[in-house]
Amino acid sequence: MNTEYDIIIIGSGLGGLVCGYILAKNGYKIAIVEKNSQIGGCLQTFKRKGIKFDTGMHYIGSMKPGQVLHALFNYLNLLSDVKLRPLDPNGFDTISFRGDIYKFANGYSHFTDTLSEKFPHNRKDIEAYIHHIKKISAASPLYNGDEAENNNFMETEYIKTSINDYIASITQNPLLQNVLAGNMPLYAGVKDKTPMYIHALISNFYIQSAYRIVGGSDTIASSLTNSITSLGGQIFTQHEVEQILCDDKKATAIVLKNGNIMRGKAFISDIHPEATMNILNTPLIRRIYKERIRNLQNTISNFTVYIKFKPNTVPYLNTNFYYYDHDNVWQANAYNKDKWPESYLYMHQCHQENPTYAESAELIGYMHFDEVKEWENTTIQQRGEAYLEFKKEKSQLLLKKLEESFPGINEQIEFYESSSPLTYRDYTGTKEGSMYGIIRDKNFPVQTLVSQRTKIPNLLLTGQNINSHGILGVIVGALITCSEFLGISKLINDIKECNNVL
Ligand SMILES: Cc1cc2nc3c(=O)[nH]c(=O)nc-3n(C[C@H](O)[C@H](O)[C@H](O)COP(=O)(O)OP(=O)(O)OC[C@H]3O[C@@H](n4cnc5c(N)ncnc54)[C@H](O)[C@@H]3O)c2cc1C
Repeated sequence: MNTEYDIIIIGSGLGGLVCGYILAKNGYKIAIVEKNSQIGGCLQTFKRKGIKFDTGMHYIGSMKPGQVLHALFNYLNLLSDVKLRPLDPNGFDTISFRGDIYKFANGYSHFTDTLSEKFPHNRKDIEAYIHHIKKISAASPLYNGDEAENNNFMETEYIKTSINDYIASITQNPLLQNVLAGNMPLYAGVKDKTPMYIHALISNFYIQSAYRIVGGSDTIASSLTNSITSLGGQIFTQHEVEQILCDDKKATAIVLKNGNIMRGKAFISDIHPEATMNILNTPLIRRIYKERIRNLQNTISNFTVYIKFKPNTVPYLNTNFYYYDHDNVWQANAYNKDKWPESYLYMHQCHQENPTYAESAELIGYMHFDEVKEWENTTIQQRGEAYLEFKKEKSQLLLKKLEESFPGINEQIEFYESSSPLTYRDYTGTKEGSMYGIIRDKNFPVQTLVSQRTKIPNLLLTGQNINSHGILGVIVGALITCSEFLGISKLINDIKECNNVL
């Protein structure tokens, strides 16, 4: 390959694709190199017996015209290709906590009214909660399509307060505290660490509106791919990057597993920062920086059961069901192995716009990597009988737990598949199969925030470890990365212009 690209992007996750689209649209000659045969990273899907399963993007929010993700999807040319089905506005999320059911409704006052029916004496607390999450979200300019001054993306107070302390300051009712934190698997919250702003941004995002993606999250990846290639960008799958070459000032090329070299003027890495450090061997990056990145903790992984139902047997459930059998939702992260699973997230998938019955579902339980450590040196499909037995046992435990809330459901299962932290590690290249990458810690806010810039002037980072994870966090992170080439004012203006809000 003798071509020299303006920008080579390593990894075709959402962050890599969004950067590729923005930069190709602005005239850069870009190439995206992806190690897998399928593009998308966590947007990937897989098929079993004709049924498609999502792996890492289940529902999205703020997609009504005028809301933030709608404006970004419009700018990214995604609106016509990505079909959505609204979740139940009276309860897009259902929190099942110690046997009782609580609903999160769309719209600020509807949310307050719905939850207040369950907590009539805490209406003022719920109003205060909504007031706060609106205020915190409004304090983040980029999340509102505005320019951030001095890279100050969030007030210090919201970074330095933990989500559990924050909720405890809103209400003294322990049950309401647990319920308000009930969707914390969306950010793999860690007690006394996760900053309150993460919870506030995500909750505000979904309370405004919430949707499933019809036909699978890979539609986002394929739409971006089509746009990128029609703008002249190139995407290479089965191109694993083994090294980033540097001279004494900057990065010059990447070396692929097949030995080929691709040259570029600039590089963006959409893979985990630690994985990026592992493919760099240059004095331009100091050992102390590499050590800092290696020592950062990552969010927990998961064990997922992918379920195919018998036709026309299970009515479509238009809500996401978060289940807890703990005294405290924060125990989910530090679970007792002997009692696993005491919490899970259960979601039906949406294969058509108006389903009456569910064709498939996903059942996700937290899982630490140490549970699969004995197979850490194995590869996909080659992990041996004991691993298959382990997966069968864990799947049955999760399904048995599901049966307690949905009696008879196991009878309706035609077949199921499962994945473990090893599956995520090997498909996305994320350390120990971590769901959302590096844990942001309110006690070490500066150390746990990774900049898009590196000490190599023409090597930038993007993806869920920059800024934040999830559809909105990664797109905003990609804007921050692309602003290094285009300037943030231009990007914000382009988004506003495209949405007629100038
Ligand atoms: C179980 C789960 C559920 C989730 N649910 C939701 C949800 O409902 N809503 C939501 O908004 N978000 C959700 N998320 C989060 C969201 O999916 C991610 O934050 C986002 O997709 C991550 O994008 P990324 O750009 O960081 O890249 P990733 O998706 O991590 O992709 C990185 C890519 O880089 C490739 N790569 C790695 N190493 C190399 C190499 N050496 N050479 C070339 N390529 C390489 C990988 O193969 C991969 O394709 C979920 C995540 C998980 C894991």
